[in-house]
Amino acid sequence: MKKYASRLAFFSFLMLLVSAHGSAAYSSIDINHESLQQSIAAGSVSEYLESLYQHQLDNGVRNFIPFSLLLITTSRQLLSGGETASALVCSEYADRLSPDLPAAAMNRHYVAWRANRLMVHQLVYGLAISFPKIFFSLDDCAYYAFKQLAILGAALMITLAGIGIISLVRNSRLFMHDLCHVMPKTLSRHGVIALFILLCILPLLLGLSLAWLFPYWLMLFWSYHNVRERAFIGIAVVGFVFVVPLIAICCSYFLFMPQCDVQQRLWQANYGYHTKYELEDFVQYALRSPDDYELMFSAGLVNKREQNYATALRFYGRLLKKNPSDYKVCTNAGNVYFAMGDWDHAVEMYKAAIAAAPDRCAAAYFNLARAYQQKFMFKDAEQSLSDAKRLDSLRVETYLDIYSENYNRLLMDETISRTALWKKGLGDFFEQRYLMNSVWNIFFSGWLRLPYGTLAILALLLLNLVYSVNDSVRIAAQCTLCGRVMCPRCQRNIAADILCFQCQNFLKKQDQLSYKQKDAKKVQIYAHIRLLRRWASCFSIVLPGMAHMWKGRIVLGSFLAFTFFWLLLQVVFVLFFRGSWYDLMYDRTVYGCLYAVLTVAVWLVLRSHIRSVKSPDIEDNVALMSLGLRI
Ligand SMILES: [Zn+2]
Ligand SMILES: [Zn+2]
Repeated sequence: MKKYASRLAFFSFLMLLVSAHGSAAYSSIDINHESLQQSIAAGSVSEYLESLYQHQLDNGVRNFIPFSLLLITTSRQLLSGGETASALVCSEYADRLSPDLPAAAMNRHYVAWRANRLMVHQLVYGLAISFPKIFFSLDDCAYYAFKQLAILGAALMITLAGIGIISLVRNSRLFMHDLCHVMPKTLSRHGVIALFILLCILPLLLGLSLAWLFPYWLMLFWSYHNVRERAFIGIAVVGFVFVVPLIAICCSYFLFMPQCDVQQRLWQANYGYHTKYELEDFVQYALRSPDDYELMFSAGLVNKREQNYATALRFYGRLLKKNPSDYKVCTNAGNVYFAMGDWDHAVEMYKAAIAAAPDRCAAAYFNLARAYQQKFMFKDAEQSLSDAKRLDSLRVETYLDIYSENYNRLLMDETISRTALWKKGLGDFFEQRYLMNSVWNIFFSGWLRLPYGTLAILALLLLNLVYSVNDSVRIAAQCTLCGRVMCPRCQRNIAADILCFQCQNFLKKQDQLSYKQKDAKKVQIYAHIRLLRRWASCFSIVLPGMAHMWKGRIVLGSFLAFTFFWLLLQVVFVLFFRGSWYDLMYDRTVYGCLYAVLTVAVWLVLRSHIRSVKSPDIEDNVALMSLGLRI
């Protein structure tokens, strides 16, 4: 209750703003919280809202979002007060007043479910119907795209970090062994460890960001991986270097769009609502940038809706001078002539539009039919109407349904497509260079600004590729039986399946060894196997999927880890980030629970599956099996 009360206070303030500035468009619409409450109390809310809806259609407004939000909040309040019938009416009109608002569609079905809790399918409908609407609204679409991209990028980064950590754990002993050979003998064991740690955190010391650390580890331990793993790691690192910045740039584009003033106004002009105050601002924008097609076009559109026909014609006239065969401008200019009573001129414009784009100009055909009707040419009018229906029957039906003598309902106006608006936004976004640089800096630059970060990591990768062919430093290997680290510098012959001297002797000379010697060796082997298993178990808890990688399944492991973290991040995002009007929608709860259940299920499945995955080092080890040493 308290939540809704605070929302209502906010809306009342918003309404005050709208009514203060909306003198021209909304002079006839008296929207305020009090009269809504009065109509509810008098039981005439349905008539009251219907009259508002008709006024909205008269004004040519497609989505009147602030009022819909007020209605959604009111419907919730009525529900908690037990007034179900009024709540249903309010929720229905919230949806009708803003047909592109996902929250309104969802709320309508939510209220229907609350009215009869047995109708659970209403909740499913609500989700299904509101989801595609996300893509019709600027704010919702931008938020959704940002969320999905951010989750994708973060899941990729965590997966790469996981591969890096596995590589570090698996290969740090080998690397230290190699360091001991390379460094002068005087350096103590502790000295080598210190040097190793220093090398591992080198990128951080050089002032690079944490994001570089994991690709760097993979490069550092490159030579210890087998050929298949090297190929995969190479692809993963290159992908990371290119894909993650790209995702970051896309994320900031989707953050930029709803915050850009011009973009908001263009969307409002074409698909939303506007107040008198905003209209003046908008015209000023358009006059300042006369080469901006979208601004000029939209300025013409809103002026026509506001019955400023001369101004509208001025904007369209400029556009027609540049491109006389633009079918959208021709159609809308024709509508202005129509509204001014100049039917001949209107017909001329509609015909020009039809000639320019015969397959896309349902609006021009429809309006032409209206013009013919005015001139009593009913046969031509019928022909034009059927042409319009052929091209876009749905839109024609909608306009026939809302028919009235008002020019905003009698005639179809062309609008700028949503795709074109997104494209225009992209152009504006790329002009703001600093935005992209700041995104890059967030991820990849620490206090040392590395200007060619991508090139640096690629050079490192290439160097590794070339160097690994004749690598004389990183050559240590691990005995697959007992885990002892060795290399050709300290042990001349290493058996084909990598066994240390002791293990070779143990396998070959079973008869010559005493029980004591055999037991000691077995204890050593068991200890090694147990250690490997403990790591696998640990990874399967903390980094699910990575345990598969630990057992040698790098591709499968990465895929599973990515899936798990993608699901987990969906839950995290739902918990910690709130979209617009989140408390008026129930999809957060539904999706949050769904993803949480899936995350836990995947975690459990991976935990049990890892036990059946056999690693070539332990379970499939031929030598171990021949001795009956399998655990
Ligand atoms: Zn061994
Ligand atoms: Zn060695």
